[in-house]
Amino acid sequence: MTDFDPAKIKVIGFDADDTLWVNEPFYRETEAKFCHLLSGYGSAGDINRALYRVETGNLDLYGYGNKAFMLSLIETAIEVSGGEVTSAGIARIIELGKQQISTHNPLLPGVPGVLALISRHYRLIVATKGDLLDQERKLRNSGISGFFHHVEIMSDKTEKHYRRLLHHLDVHPGEFLMVGNSLRSDVLPVLALGGYAIHVPFQVTWQHEEVHPDEMPGGHFFTVDTLEEILPILGLEVR
Ligand SMILES: [Mg+2]
Repeated sequence: MTDFDPAKIKVIGFDADDTLWVNEPFYRETEAKFCHLLSGYGSAGDINRALYRVETGNLDLYGYGNKAFMLSLIETAIEVSGGEVTSAGIARIIELGKQQISTHNPLLPGVPGVLALISRHYRLIVATKGDLLDQERKLRNSGISGFFHHVEIMSDKTEKHYRRLLHHLDVHPGEFLMVGNSLRSDVLPVLALGGYAIHVPFQVTWQHEEVHPDEMPGGHFFTVDTLEEILPILGLEVR
C-alpha cells in the first residue's frame, strides 16, 4: 500500500473476536455437539446448513453474538426434528449455549506485548460486534482492557456504523486504521470510507464473514500472518 503514512494515523481500531482472542472455534465446538444431539434427524452437514440459514435469516432481528446463536440453535432443532425435539432436548441446547457463554476466550499469541507497544504511540479502541454483556465479559477477562481508550460494541460493522463511530471519535477516515480478521466486517467497510485496514486472517472464519473475490477492493490494505507483523507497518520496532 503506497499511500499509507503511519504518522497520519490517530486512532487504531481492533476487532476482538479472533483478532485479540480465540472465539470462532468455540462456536464450531458447540455446533458439533448440537449436530451430535440431533443426529437422529439428519447428517451434520444438513443440520449445519439448516443452522446457517436460520442464523443468517435472524441477523436483522437478533444481531450477532451468543444469545442470537442460542435462539437460532433452538429454532433449527425444532425445524430439523419436524417439531419432535423434546423439552429435555431444548434444555440441553440451552445448556450448550450457556457453556459457550461461560468459556474463557484465550488471547492470541503476542497480543499484550503488541498492544503495550502500540498504545504508547496511538489511541487504541476496540470495535466489536456481538452481545453487549458477552463482549464486556470477554474484555474484562482478557486483562487487556487498559490499553484501550474506548470500546465500541456495535450492532453491525457496515460503512454506516463505522462512519458513526469515526464521527463520535472525531477522526477523519484517513486518520483511522482498522485491524481485524474479517474482510467483510473489518476491512471492506473501512476502506470504502477512505480509511486503512490490516487484515489478520484467523484459522477459522464463519461463512457469513467470507468475501467473494469479486468483492475484494484490490490490494489497498495490508495482510499479515500474526499481530506482531503490524509493528513494522506502523514503523515500530519488533522486540
Ligand atoms: Mg473477528
